[in-house]
Amino acid sequence: MSVDMTRNTPSETEPTDFIREIIREDLRTGKFGGRVHTRFPPEPNGYLHIGHAKSICLNFGVAEEFGGLCNLRFDDTNPVKEEAEYVEAIKRDVHWLGYDWGEREFYASDYFEQLYQYAVQLIKLGKAYVCDLTPEQIREYRGTLTEPGRESPYRNRSVEENLELFERMRAGEFPDGSRTLRAKIDMASGNLNMRDPVIYRILHATHHRTGDAWCIYPMYDFAHSLSDSIERITHSLCTLEFEDHRPLYEWFQEQLGVYRSQQIEFARLNLTYTILSKRKLIRLVQEGHVSGWDDPRMPTLSGMRRRGYTPQAIRDFCGRIGVAKTNSVVDVALLEYCLRQDLNKRAPRVMGVLEPLRVVIENYPEGQVEMVEAINNPEDESMGTRQVPFSRVLYIERDDFREDPPRKYFRLAPGREVRLRYAYFIKCVDVIKDPETGEVVELRCTYDPETRGGYAPDGRKVRGTIHWVSAQHAHDAEVRLYDRLFNKPNPAEVEEGQDFTANLNPNSLQVLTGCKVEPSLAGAEPGSIYQFERKGYFCVDVLDSTPEHLVFNRTVSLRDTWKKIEKSLQQQRKR
Ligand code: ATP
Ligand code: MG
Repeated sequence: MSVDMTRNTPSETEPTDFIREIIREDLRTGKFGGRVHTRFPPEPNGYLHIGHAKSICLNFGVAEEFGGLCNLRFDDTNPVKEEAEYVEAIKRDVHWLGYDWGEREFYASDYFEQLYQYAVQLIKLGKAYVCDLTPEQIREYRGTLTEPGRESPYRNRSVEENLELFERMRAGEFPDGSRTLRAKIDMASGNLNMRDPVIYRILHATHHRTGDAWCIYPMYDFAHSLSDSIERITHSLCTLEFEDHRPLYEWFQEQLGVYRSQQIEFARLNLTYTILSKRKLIRLVQEGHVSGWDDPRMPTLSGMRRRGYTPQAIRDFCGRIGVAKTNSVVDVALLEYCLRQDLNKRAPRVMGVLEPLRVVIENYPEGQVEMVEAINNPEDESMGTRQVPFSRVLYIERDDFREDPPRKYFRLAPGREVRLRYAYFIKCVDVIKDPETGEVVELRCTYDPETRGGYAPDGRKVRGTIHWVSAQHAHDAEVRLYDRLFNKPNPAEVEEGQDFTANLNPNSLQVLTGCKVEPSLAGAEPGSIYQFERKGYFCVDVLDSTPEHLVFNRTVSLRDTWKKIEKSLQQQRKR
């Protein structure tokens, strides 16, 4: 494959980082014959999360930028935890992010025969042996960081005996855990991974693709190094915790004299208020803390998609955080910022009232309906305008009225005038309360017919503009408000005797029913995203929303400056 040499020097717009620098250098020196070939290697034992997105954007992004290729390879060497459901979900998510692996969908399990032959070759080279120690004994013999390990009593078996025993392992003659195949490296190595690591184990389990063809399975390090080699991967990008595995990764390729790939480690993504570990995420699903892998509160790509995240926002985020060599924690607010930036450009504006308060406009003729023109997106004129019905009875947000308004509260209050977005000025002339509870149930207002469009010809100003819907035209909706799933910046940090589930936020989901949305939303497509003016971005739920029962997920709020003001007011009051 030839490479466009103009790509070898970074331009100002191209991303750059230490990995891209290494690749440019390799292209310059011709190290891999001018090729760039990466892979994204998920284990199909759970759904992809935002951390995986970082790896996907890096691997596919680098391949695209340097005119190379990126494989999708399922690292399916553990039959116990892996399922076809996960394979399908992973493919859906990678495509959704906007990447394509073409014909190059591979499975480590496709290489089981070849990997077996590599293991036989290692035995013949005197570099692997069958060991009869139990898993506990192996651990015991391994030693510690400060103490060398001890050699297994089976380490010096003859090549012939090893070959025969390994073949019998494959034939299913021995029970699970009774024997392993181990690489013969160095029990005194300062690197624990080099102390005769296990490369095959006996496991009588049905594999999601190979069925019962195998009862021995290769271990991750062995399978991963040699799968990379088989696919002639040039740059094998993985997270930092594999740095100590690199000598072993290289050892397998070197001993067998096969294609040499280069492993490069980068820092994994950590996010505040977020758990990014499939092992923990699967617990949230199985223990019912969330409704499933695609619960909109989950950091999974399927959950984020359902919540209303766009692939563009996620790719923008991955570009902004970049790739580094040291671990750090990224503020989840940056992810939300990227989302707002994207939705601000593309989401149509509509009016929706989450907590409705009835308003009757006393001087507006009964039975009259007029259409007012509303702008679909002030950021994008090409999105045009729409007609919204206005009539005598409306709903406004309960929160947009205060009987006793605090300082700096510019919305509706008794005797005060505000602008109804796109419509008229109204003034509150009376407040109707429930005689028993004292709760405000209705406002009586008057409107100024001269202010159509929201401006007074006499130049008088109002300080507040609020949204509304016409009662007789509004559609009912259910709205699900989400808050952070965990209430600690680092949810993994727990008191003794607790686990991360102790940090779950009990108020991460709030369901509002009886919300009122403007009639243009009647035919809203599941998955489509709107900005409810002043309230945030909302996505039509793909699973639960129907034309008869609209369900919206709040994707993300708008920055609520009022909250800040209210907070500082509260503090002032306390002083
Ligand atoms: P988890 O820790 O969530 O179980 P994993 O590393 O076991 O993740 P894999 O399916 O093996 O999951 O991951 C596939 C690829 O995604 C690997 O190359 C892995 O390094 C990368 N990856 C996983 N989590 C992150 C993360 N938080 N940030 C960046 N890359 C990640
Ligand atoms: Mg893994």
